[in-house]
Amino acid sequence: MKETLFDAILRGEIPCKKVYEDDATLAFHDIAPQAPVHVLVIPKTRIQNVGEADDSHGEALGRVLLAARNVAQLLGIQKTGFRIVLNNGKDGGQTVDYLHAHVLGGRALDWPPG
Ligand code: AMP
Repeated sequence: MKETLFDAILRGEIPCKKVYEDDATLAFHDIAPQAPVHVLVIPKTRIQNVGEADDSHGEALGRVLLAARNVAQLLGIQKTGFRIVLNNGKDGGQTVDYLHAHVLGGRALDWPPG
C-alpha cells in the first residue's frame, strides 16, 4: 500500500491536533472542519479502507468505532448526537488512502448527503 499523509501523522513526522490516542487508534482534528466538531479517527493497523479490509481487521475496525465514541464523549457531543462517516474509494469521496472515520457533530447535520 502506498505511503499516505496519515502514515506520517501516525509516526509523528507531520503534526496533528491530537484529541485522543490509545494502543489501537489515534484521533485528531480535521484540518478543514465541516462542522463545529470534526475529528478523524485512524487505526494504528494500516488498512486502506473498509472495502479493502479482511477478516483479520475486525478488532481494528471495532476499535475505531469505540475511539469515535470516546471522542464524542471527550468533546461533549455524545448526548446531542453525532455522525461517523467512512468514505470509501473514489465515488465514496475518499482522498486519503488510509482508513479514517470522520466524527462530525456540534450542529444538526443534513441527510441524505449529496
Ligand atoms: P477523505 O476525503 O474522507 O479521505 O478525508 C480526508 C480528510 O483529511 C479531509 O477531511 C481533509 O480535510 C483531512 N486532512 C487532510 N490533511 C490533513 C491534515 N494534515 N491534518 C488533518 N486532517 C487533514
